[in-house]
Amino acid sequence: MNNNLDLLMDQAADLINKYDNIYICSHVQPDGDNIGSTLALYMAICKIKDKVNVIKVDEIPSDFLFLPNSQVFQEYSTEMPVDLFIALDSSDIERLGPGKSLLKKAKKIINIDHHVTNDNFGDVNIVLPSASATGEIVYSFIKHMNIEIDKDIATCLYTAISTDTGRFMYSNTTYETHLIASDLLNTGLDLNLVNIHLYQNRSIERTRLFLEALYNMELYLDDQIGIATVTQEMLSKHNAKLEDTEGIVSFIRDTDTIEVACLLKEISEKEIKVSLRSKKSVDVSTIALKFGGGGHIRAAGCTIYDAIDNVKNIVLEEIQKSFR
Ligand code: AMP
Ligand code: MN
Ligand code: MN
Repeated sequence: MNNNLDLLMDQAADLINKYDNIYICSHVQPDGDNIGSTLALYMAICKIKDKVNVIKVDEIPSDFLFLPNSQVFQEYSTEMPVDLFIALDSSDIERLGPGKSLLKKAKKIINIDHHVTNDNFGDVNIVLPSASATGEIVYSFIKHMNIEIDKDIATCLYTAISTDTGRFMYSNTTYETHLIASDLLNTGLDLNLVNIHLYQNRSIERTRLFLEALYNMELYLDDQIGIATVTQEMLSKHNAKLEDTEGIVSFIRDTDTIEVACLLKEISEKEIKVSLRSKKSVDVSTIALKFGGGGHIRAAGCTIYDAIDNVKNIVLEEIQKSFR
């Protein structure tokens, strides 16, 4: 670990020791990395402080309710007195949704993240794009604070890392990632149970939504680009939720000819969430950035406020440009 990182972790630990009203806030549409990192840091800080507050700004997907302490997430309220605000896995303050107003009230902000597009909005910014998941950084930070990583903390961190690396398969997976995973497994966490909850737990509704979205996938540029859509109509038809779209875009990317996979999710009539994935050559984070979003080279996203057909056209055009 380099000196600068040690210094940043010292500064973050000092803030945690100093302040009482500590808030850890999830991002909008929270994923495994965000939720796992949040719960792990919550449990770690609970070992040295009387109280830590954990805020959700969107519902926690049912996939992650098996995690220890998943019930600690509270709804955000404007009354909350914030001294220290901790953001995990959030590249900018817009990712915090209404949590942004808590951040604005805070005396100090700690920003721990791994997105290349992170804009360093904190007073202390521990931003490491080389980390496969925010969970990796949180692991190092908990170690740095000399707090024991018990089985429950390990379960949350393992979930964070496993989900953000596509089960240790994506190109963000490193030697370090595996060392950390090995140390987490050494706590005796129930790997089979974690894997069943994360990957062998798909509802029939989700399966049907997957099938319709994939069946109607459109291909462009000699089948190098695949685009699928999930509309509100499809969600109600299959009695599925927005969180049930998880995995569709990576499934498209796994097609042999595909370099860029795109999923358009209709949140409402004129609000479309775009998910982008690439395989080898295209940097999708720059595409997402053009629309005010962000992410990583191989996984990025943005929200565009327009009708779904218009969004498809403008996003497709940008994707096609990225091949030139
Ligand atoms: P998703 O497609 O939602 O799974 O997101 C893929 C990656 O892009 C994740 O690392 C997200 O954190 C990031 N991302 C998604 N949407 C946005 C956004 N609107 N702004 C910044 N980053 C985003
Ligand atoms: Mn995330
Ligand atoms: Mn992440």
